[in-house]
Amino acid sequence: MSTAEQVSTLFIDGKWVPAQSGETRTIHCPADGSEVGVVSEAGEADTLAAIAAARKAFDSHVWADTPAAERGAFVLAVADAIEARKDEFARAEALDTGKRFVEAQIDMDDIIGCYRHFGKLADVEAGRLVDAGDPTVISRVVYEPVGVCGMITPWNYPLLQAAWKMAPALAAGNSFILKPAELTPHTGMLIMDVYDSLGLPAGVANLITGPGATAGAPLSSHPDVDMVSFTGGVVTGRKIAATAAETVKKVALELGGKNPNVVFADADFDAAVDNALNAGFVDSGLVCSAGTRLIIEESIKEKFVTELVRRAENIRMGGPFEEAAETGPLISAEHRQKVYDYTQRGIEEGATLRTGHHFGGEEHRNGYFYAPTVLDDVKRGMYVVKEEGFGPVITVETFTTEAEAIETANDTIYGLAGAVWTSDSGTAHRVSSRLRHGTIWINDYHPYLPQAEWGGFKQSGVGRELGHMGLDEYREAKHIYENTEPAVTGWFSMPEK
Ligand code: NAD
Repeated sequence: MSTAEQVSTLFIDGKWVPAQSGETRTIHCPADGSEVGVVSEAGEADTLAAIAAARKAFDSHVWADTPAAERGAFVLAVADAIEARKDEFARAEALDTGKRFVEAQIDMDDIIGCYRHFGKLADVEAGRLVDAGDPTVISRVVYEPVGVCGMITPWNYPLLQAAWKMAPALAAGNSFILKPAELTPHTGMLIMDVYDSLGLPAGVANLITGPGATAGAPLSSHPDVDMVSFTGGVVTGRKIAATAAETVKKVALELGGKNPNVVFADADFDAAVDNALNAGFVDSGLVCSAGTRLIIEESIKEKFVTELVRRAENIRMGGPFEEAAETGPLISAEHRQKVYDYTQRGIEEGATLRTGHHFGGEEHRNGYFYAPTVLDDVKRGMYVVKEEGFGPVITVETFTTEAEAIETANDTIYGLAGAVWTSDSGTAHRVSSRLRHGTIWINDYHPYLPQAEWGGFKQSGVGRELGHMGLDEYREAKHIYENTEPAVTGWFSMPEK
């Protein structure tokens, strides 16, 4: 992919090429600042070249006309290839993100599961017959690929978020350009290597490593891109949707969340505390569906939060390969400062800091660590309740009635995910049916299934990934109406010739 003289990490039209400007970026591990690699820093010209390659590949029909069963077999083979190189992939992801190697291995299992899901779906439903109410008419709906897809992804789950887009896009016969977050490019490079070694035709899959404002922007503005699929923050999502509107592209958005974790007094106490920790602090809270908004029944609040804080203080932070570590660093100094300022603003607005809000011990000085933080006594309307912090910061609110719990949990512009904890199944089902969020867990937090749709209500996004709808995002429906007995309609009079 690169030589000592020339860094060539852009994959365009089946070839590894350098950025046209010759610029590069050095990637550092956020856990200790060590150098991970040097990659090409793409700019607009490189993205335009990648769009042209994807367009040419799509217009040649080389992949769309490949039988769906063969496309499915390819996607399944990708899963096998990642499985065979799982530790190599996990290591690359752990070094780019600083997350624990074991967590990166779990991410790879999820990615393999995603490719298997879409590989199996590829030839399940090519279309359907429609009853036209007329025996002389054959009316069918066929599903065709959307075309050239631009994919823009974040740094928290770099390959997983990309796989949710690439696997269905490949299964459906599209071509695409992937632009991973500029800080986490390495697994994107590895997956292109897999596609290439499995014989994917040139131009079907393209990779651009570079920043959003320059290398990413053409993916939402260019008329030759038929669809832009974005995962990231809501502010960027709004920009991308506005730009895409100029050429009326299909847009899929997976944005952030401020996700409620609602705990009733009758919940299993130990399981609820343990899962509240997982909800907010797994992967240092760098999870779009992180349950950072603890909404707890007043009567158990003090006992619950005391135990939550006691356990939060025992969470061990560390680098990807530290055996004892339970969670890793944030992605960058800049991001850590954002999380710090976010918490600080909550404290200034009247929240009580129960624990955290510091950068760890001496051993953490080379990385961007930020200790698990609990902000108590927050109120609806405060900045830290309304906005996503995207770090390990749990805010605590209380309720006394079921109606109040529901109202509080829905009082957000977001709607990605949430949980309800109770031993009463009636309560569980009433509350879950009222929560305006795309995924609801009952007595659990975080599990998701590739077979089940994932996505946001309200400003958490547009469209769905995974499940069946995750494939439909990458297909257009075309209605073909065939009259087998053509006849004069008689609609207009026929003047004598
Ligand atoms: P971000 O919005 O800053 O960046 C995401 C991607 O967009 C990056 O690749 C970036 O380079 C690119 N980008 C930035 N500006 C752009 C522009 N003008 N045009 C085109 N591309 C541009 O997000 P982030 O900080 O990398 O990720 C964190 C966010 O992602 C959080 O808000 C999190 O909740 C969200 N997220 C959502 C999901 C989900 O499934 N809903 C999953 C993971 C992360």
